[in-house]
Amino acid sequence: SQPSTSPIPLAAQVGGHAGVQTTEDGSLLLKPALPVEIDFYQQLSSEPVLKRLKPWTCKFFGTLQLQGTVKEGTGEGAPLEITPLDTASQDKESLVLENLTHGFIKPNILDIKLGTVLYDDAASPEKRARMERTAKETTSAETGIRLTGFQVYSNYSPDPVITPKAYGKSIKRSQLPEGITRFFPVATEAASLDSEHTQLGLPVHLLLPIIVRIHQDIGRIKAAIEAIEIRLVGASLLIIYEGDRAKAEAGQEALKLSGAAASESELEDTAEEEEIDIDDDEETDDDSEDEEEESAPLYQVKLIDFAHTRLVPGLQTDQGVMLGLQTTLELLSKRIEEVRQLA
Ligand code: ADP
Ligand code: MN
Repeated sequence: SQPSTSPIPLAAQVGGHAGVQTTEDGSLLLKPALPVEIDFYQQLSSEPVLKRLKPWTCKFFGTLQLQGTVKEGTGEGAPLEITPLDTASQDKESLVLENLTHGFIKPNILDIKLGTVLYDDAASPEKRARMERTAKETTSAETGIRLTGFQVYSNYSPDPVITPKAYGKSIKRSQLPEGITRFFPVATEAASLDSEHTQLGLPVHLLLPIIVRIHQDIGRIKAAIEAIEIRLVGASLLIIYEGDRAKAEAGQEALKLSGAAASESELEDTAEEEEIDIDDDEETDDDSEDEEEESAPLYQVKLIDFAHTRLVPGLQTDQGVMLGLQTTLELLSKRIEEVRQLA
């Protein structure tokens, strides 16, 4: 049966312009988009050079316009029927993407804007000057990243603690580790059993394997981008992990993410397993594994926001984005070591 639904605003939007919506069941994301971004999502399916990058982007189901019919689907899933109520965005086309937060009970979410150059060739001289100034005044120019915004849940509150974009814009390079610590806080075991204490984040044994996996994925994203002649101006890494302790505990067992998965010796094994998962279009996995992946994602790492992304055949890849990914890898390595010390 085809879902028929009315969009509602995305509750968990940590960055960007207002107007991102989801379907009622929360599975799909509707984002107003300009032709450059729509073109890029279509190229992800048609351009052989983008094949390695595609697994690191959101599933793209097509575009939505006016009356709300989905068109130009890429064959990923059944056709959809969507009736938008919102009138404000009706003259713009919207992307229909997977909602990466779907399936999480308490999605801890971080948007990291990548790159040192945050304007493209189409920018006016004024915009260019403004974006150059913003990059220099923030961590972007020096490190290739800016923490755009994030949210983190605690054990008892149903609402996340939100860190708005002003924080990421105000901090210096030397404060980036502190920002990463805020997104990956360590809760003590005892507090999770004691309803008098509200604590942010997950205890070490749940947090550590998740950060290790996220670090691995970002390494693969970096390797994929390195091989492509592309400019990813203004794109972000969207990092999500489960902040609900019971779900994180249960999911960890299901995915065999024991604390040992974080040990050096297991890193390579895990990498190989995941390599197989990434390219798998065929039903090679056994059913139980598939269900676990679908019903209990513990984390997601994807590239989003391609409003100024384009292929640049013959030119080297985006050095500002490469710098940003390297900075992110170093920050995560540092946090992994710190969390390990607490184990
Ligand atoms: P903008 O061009 O306005 O910056 P983005 O594509 O960066 O738009 O999206 C803005 C915000 O919406 C992100 O910071 C993130 O919180 C949320 N978001 C975007 N895409 C997704 C997605 N596929 N799943 C879940 N959340 C998303
Ligand atoms: Mn954005």
